[in-house]
Amino acid sequence: MSKPMFEKIALVGIGLIGSSLARVICREGLAGHISIATRSPETLKRTQELKLGDHYTTDANEAVRGADLVIVSVPVGACGAAAEEIAPALKKGVILTDVGSTKASVIAQMQPLVPEGVHFIPGHPLAGTEKSGPDAGFAELFENRRCILTPLEGTDPAALEKLSEFWRRCGSNIDTMDPQRHHMTLAIVSHLPHIISYNMIRTADDLETVTKCKVIKYSASGFRDFTRLAASDPTMWRDVCLHNRDAILEMLARFSEDLASLQRAIRWGEGDKLFDLFTRTRAIRRSIIEAGQDVDVPDFGRQALRNLHLMQE
Ligand code: NAP
Repeated sequence: MSKPMFEKIALVGIGLIGSSLARVICREGLAGHISIATRSPETLKRTQELKLGDHYTTDANEAVRGADLVIVSVPVGACGAAAEEIAPALKKGVILTDVGSTKASVIAQMQPLVPEGVHFIPGHPLAGTEKSGPDAGFAELFENRRCILTPLEGTDPAALEKLSEFWRRCGSNIDTMDPQRHHMTLAIVSHLPHIISYNMIRTADDLETVTKCKVIKYSASGFRDFTRLAASDPTMWRDVCLHNRDAILEMLARFSEDLASLQRAIRWGEGDKLFDLFTRTRAIRRSIIEAGQDVDVPDFGRQALRNLHLMQE
């Protein structure tokens, strides 16, 4: 059997992302030993039941001792505290990374605490679902997804290449960019859609309360597709909003301007303008499918799901 990429990998945080990593690391034989730390005894117990690693503890400092790769997968607002806890136990030459959905704020929290001789390379896999916790993870989560690394000035090229290779073995394609570009890009492709979904559902829920019109009953249309994003973890998305505030506010301002222009076109009956816009957006959806970022299954694959349920009945 070939030698694993890392003798020991420590996973600090074992929710959707951490547990997906544990599963793919195990499947691909990327570590000789997997040590797992999580905050609560309940999550730790479940992680043990799922047999996601070799060593389990609620003490992150203990988990990272002797590790060659440490991956911090906690909400972005908790990264500073995690770094403080693990810093004294990190060995020289270890690669330290994170998976946080924001980068500049994670770097600001963690970098000052990173000891000399530790290769700190922030990262963000563009892969996820609306589910949380160790049961929600699966080994295929990162397959054909992009993983963005935001190396800092003076990053050791060999450590960067090793971490890139790790993510490639998890199934991802690597991009490197600076934190600022990461923030702007993610604000539009991920953060704004979530905020719009949260707001959309809030508006509909208020309307139901005020008018008693049955929103849930008739939700088998566009509304339902918003509800998936709006079910995302409240802690994670609170932290994303607070930690990528400037870029999100910039994108919300642009969005509001474009929405006002759309509103105007509807008010003034500008059918050509609406048609042109909808044609443009339809082409964008097609290009996303062509780029392999989504599947062109009718009804987002729900018919297949219904057939599965019927077969099980
Ligand atoms: P999750 O499923 O909710 O798991 C969170 C993990 O962090 C658990 O181990 C939890 O421990 C621990 N944790 C929660 N609050 C903590 C705190 N205040 N201090 C220390 N530990 C804490 O979260 P996730 O979806 O895996 O997200 C983890 C990171 O990945 C976040 O930074 C997020 O931005 C990023 N990310 C998420 C997605 C996504 O779609 N979910 C995609 C890409 C990146 P206990 O359960 O023991 O309390």
